[in-house]
Amino acid sequence: MLDNVRIILIGTSHPGNIGSAARAMKTMGLSNLVLVAPECEVDGKSIALSAGASDVLKNHQRFATLEEAIADCGLVIGASARPRTLDWPMLDPREMGEKAVIEGAKYPVAIVFGRENSGLTNDELHKCHFHVFIPANPEYSSLNLAMAVQTLSYEIRMSFLASHAKVELEEEYPLSEELEGMFNHLQETLEDTRFIVPAHPGLVMTKLRRFFNRARPEVVELRMWRGVFSSIQKSLISARKEDPSQEK
Ligand code: SAH
Repeated sequence: MLDNVRIILIGTSHPGNIGSAARAMKTMGLSNLVLVAPECEVDGKSIALSAGASDVLKNHQRFATLEEAIADCGLVIGASARPRTLDWPMLDPREMGEKAVIEGAKYPVAIVFGRENSGLTNDELHKCHFHVFIPANPEYSSLNLAMAVQTLSYEIRMSFLASHAKVELEEEYPLSEELEGMFNHLQETLEDTRFIVPAHPGLVMTKLRRFFNRARPEVVELRMWRGVFSSIQKSLISARKEDPSQEK
């Protein structure tokens, strides 16, 4: 299941941090490093700081966007240097470790880290099921990127070592790309009903994302919601056929 845990670094700007993150991962038995739109190259400095973990560096994967990097993940957790983020469900590092190990038995799990200078964007944070905060000194809570990777990787390892009395995940959760498909379908439906005006979308989708995210729909529930959206779209089409003045 540790092979199913993916460490994603977004927009990293210091090559040394990528090397140190690889080392931090390998010491804890993790090997799946993903870079999203890095702002620097993996260079000699990265290799020097990775020490014996140059294999993790060499095997890293690269994507242009977070969405592509998490498409096949069933659980996505964003690491934030701020204790409260956008009223999103929060985990402490221990809870994060437990969830990652339990759900990592079923599908890929992503832990997402932000840029050294600006962290994760709101849009990126909205793509996560949970946020995790390392409860550091409230007056100085921002850890170095690789140190944050080390701390969270350690919690995953501790949970992995304790997991021999294994808890089985009973629910079946959709993968990130299926969730994105549902959100697109929801948005399309709300544009059809004119609840959302495309020129002035406001925060409706963000709030609905937060709502569905909090409920964490299972695969069968997601399928049902898509059926609900399709039925709304179908009845709109037939209503507009009967009364063409309702046409958009
Ligand atoms: N200045 C940035 C912090 C960047 S630190 C900001 O204000 O958001 C780089 C990354 O390390 C963060 O994006 C986060 O993923 C991780 N990180 C740093 N401190 C953390 C903490 N206390 N808890 C969880 N993640 C942390």
